[in-house]
Amino acid sequence: MIYLDHHATTPPSQAVIDAMAAVMAGTWANASSKHGPGQAASRVLAGARSVVAQALGCKPAEVVFTSGATEANHLAVRGLLAAAPEGRRRVLFSAVEHAGHLKLARELMNAGVPVDFIPVRPDGALDLDAATRLIRDDVALVSLMAANNETGALMPVPEVAALAAAAGARLHVDATQWIGKRPFRFTDFGADAVSFSAHKFNGPKGVGALLLRQGVAIRPTVPGPQERGRRGGTENLPAIAGLATALYALGTPADLDAEAARQAALRDRLEGALMAALPELRIWCAGVPRLPGVSFLRVGRWEADVLLQRLERLGFAASSGAACSSSGNAPSHVLTAMGVPEDEALGAVRLSLGRTTTDADIDALIAALPTLRSLLPAAEAVAA
Ligand code: PMP
Repeated sequence: MIYLDHHATTPPSQAVIDAMAAVMAGTWANASSKHGPGQAASRVLAGARSVVAQALGCKPAEVVFTSGATEANHLAVRGLLAAAPEGRRRVLFSAVEHAGHLKLARELMNAGVPVDFIPVRPDGALDLDAATRLIRDDVALVSLMAANNETGALMPVPEVAALAAAAGARLHVDATQWIGKRPFRFTDFGADAVSFSAHKFNGPKGVGALLLRQGVAIRPTVPGPQERGRRGGTENLPAIAGLATALYALGTPADLDAEAARQAALRDRLEGALMAALPELRIWCAGVPRLPGVSFLRVGRWEADVLLQRLERLGFAASSGAACSSSGNAPSHVLTAMGVPEDEALGAVRLSLGRTTTDADIDALIAALPTLRSLLPAAEAVAA
């Protein structure tokens, strides 16, 4: 099976598996214990934290390890809101945040917190005029993703950071799809808090972090003494070691740029071949800056499930969008926010490339396109 769903998750590298196994076997003690084995675990934890800080341009004390981006997002939004000064109660989200994050937005609304959504334009870019209108001095924080997991569209973090700073609001950025794909330095990013998950860059699942700028007040969502009181619970040391190993393996900003260029070239070659081979191909967000390895598209009026089943039969694993929401038959909220009609959105298929995607994988998909086309039956088109 050729795996083309790297935005959902990525395979752990051998170095990550080895690092995790070594910690599980050799440094399994509780990093808070005062005895020798505990102190050895504590040193592994400190080592991993400084690798993360070095790789992401922050201070070790600014790293709060969590169970992943979902938890880091919760900690950032709930924690920054709870610590916001009086008179600042409003929270802004972009309309295209990760589905799980928008659930949090709705929970806040149900609890009486004033919440607004910054819309996107039909091309998928954030509506900066609306952001300018909405970011006022009653805003506690703005929560914005760096790059969209479905379309790959990049969000204008520096511009929103400037608006938030001018209004005295905090900025939280969900950089889950950015970190590992594009160069990142916390000090230059303009955000007070940044979340990410290790499994998006060949690390393990169930681990991530919130980077929290020094001096920014936050109330923990899971209280406890670990992580300087910002996140309780015994640290998942094997996973944290895996996260650090995966981040270190990403290399320098130049290495990241080279990998991005490689993936963009593969993606562009694939999109060219798809356009030539398939009828009425529509690729969303091709006209705005987007992540290098993703293509979010529909083919004619074919339902996503029909296309995905045929792709799988031919040996390719892709998805209809975010893995967490792809089991339902609801149209993508990202496409809905862009104004795409429901019948068109129900055809959305996401092909996402990664570090392990090769030229030969893309050649194989291109070679399979005529067969794919012949397998698409007229009767299964989306009803108009
Ligand atoms: N934010 C974004 C942008 C994502 O793509 C994802 C994962 N699909 C998450 C948050 C949640 O990450 P996790 O499931 O690892 O907590």
